[in-house]
Amino acid sequence: MDINQIRQLYLDHFTEHGHQIIDRAPLVLNDDATTLFTGSGMQPLLPYLLGADHPAGDRLVDVQPCLRSQDIEEVGDNRHTTFFEMLGNWSLGGYFKDEQIRFAWDFLVNKVGLDPARMYVSVYSGDQSLEISPDDESAQVWHELFSAAGVSTDRIDLVTEERGNAEGSGGARICGYRDKNWWSRGGGPETMPVGDPGGPDTEIFYYFPQVEHDKSYGEHPHPNSDGGQYLEIGNSVFMQFQRTENGLSPLPRRNVDFGGGLERIAAAAIDSPDVYRVGTLAPIVSRIEELSGRAYDDDTEAMRVIADHVRGAVFLIADGVRPSGKEHGYVLRRLLRRAIRFAHAIECFDGTLESVADAAIDAYAAAYPTLDAARTEILGVLAKEERQFRRTLGKGLRELRRLGKESRPLSGADLFTLYERFGFPVELAAEEANRLGVDLLAGWRADFDTAMERQRQMSRASSTLGT
Ligand code: ATP
Ligand code: MG
Repeated sequence: MDINQIRQLYLDHFTEHGHQIIDRAPLVLNDDATTLFTGSGMQPLLPYLLGADHPAGDRLVDVQPCLRSQDIEEVGDNRHTTFFEMLGNWSLGGYFKDEQIRFAWDFLVNKVGLDPARMYVSVYSGDQSLEISPDDESAQVWHELFSAAGVSTDRIDLVTEERGNAEGSGGARICGYRDKNWWSRGGGPETMPVGDPGGPDTEIFYYFPQVEHDKSYGEHPHPNSDGGQYLEIGNSVFMQFQRTENGLSPLPRRNVDFGGGLERIAAAAIDSPDVYRVGTLAPIVSRIEELSGRAYDDDTEAMRVIADHVRGAVFLIADGVRPSGKEHGYVLRRLLRRAIRFAHAIECFDGTLESVADAAIDAYAAAYPTLDAARTEILGVLAKEERQFRRTLGKGLRELRRLGKESRPLSGADLFTLYERFGFPVELAAEEANRLGVDLLAGWRADFDTAMERQRQMSRASSTLGT
């Protein structure tokens, strides 16, 4: 089943169960000081999860484009992208654990067609010291569903990740964790802010036997490990407590918040542990193969980075972001310059961003008609950014190599020079130094920021002097 079908099927599945489809939020969250971009479907709904009435009712569903700039360094693996679509459904004071887990199961197993024998789940193991019970209710529903499908349901309480990493799961179907299965806006049950809601969550993983697992996680790595065989495809959060001065008390109106990675579910549906094989990403990768004359299997990391960054940039530009030196615009610039750097490495030259973006817009045109409508504008922004950065990229790389040969660690001031003269985003320069095996002086980041601030002050001073 194709990713575009799965997206629609999800909306249909939940509307059949009385949910209203709500509009997606833009990627840019202007009124949220804590983060630059929408990083989950839940984020724009927080006021309603905290108690406000939603105009569309108490059963909601959507598909939310997300951008997690914090995942940028993960891009290159087979499962993390900065941009992705999150399937989301919510119950605001209505149904709870039992129905949510059955809804999710019905969608994944009966609609998408995933193999239940390859699904593994995690539940909250409880916290004895805080007298919070394990989430036996969720475990029981999972047990019933798996059993009815003829799948074994051993349960293990690993409690901590450390224990899981040391001992593995023994292949258990239901794994209990304490720290990994508690959701709140601010840490565990004892550190979350007074007044905030929180509660246990239950995650769903899909197992890929074809992946060679990292043996350091044991013979049977636990699903939430980095062992490589399990892919987290969705997470149901059950907000059932509220933190008070005296500990936790039951929340008057309990909520369900489900978030599932569309690309990951679509990858599971085609039995691929690699999300770049799904219908929206594969054509972007093919375009990069054509442009470079190389094969994805040989230059996997570079092609993943280019495909991801250009796709994210396309969505950002369509949502009004333009490359600049700060905040949202800086993240966009960083994505684009990083994409160009990787394109350079696989000999994709001028016009790469435009051509790759063109393929990305084609891949999303049906589901996101606004991208198609903004095509000329988007390609124009990319072409300009590429022209600017290409001009100095080669020189910057040469300078970095030259500095590297001086056999001394690079300082924040060196990186600032690279930024000023060649437009190298500081993170990219640091990555590049890393690749060349050149050390960075301790405190380089703070020194860079100081140099940057000094320059800002100088330019402010000179503009007030009218020079
Ligand atoms: P992971 O541990 O794999 O980074 P997460 O715990 O950060 O995932 P959540 O915050 O629970 O994930 O997000 C809900 C769902 O969104 C996940 O179950 C996953 O399917 C998907 N998801 C999260 N981050 C990414 C990403 N960077 N790229 C693609 N899908 C993602
Ligand atoms: Mg993550």
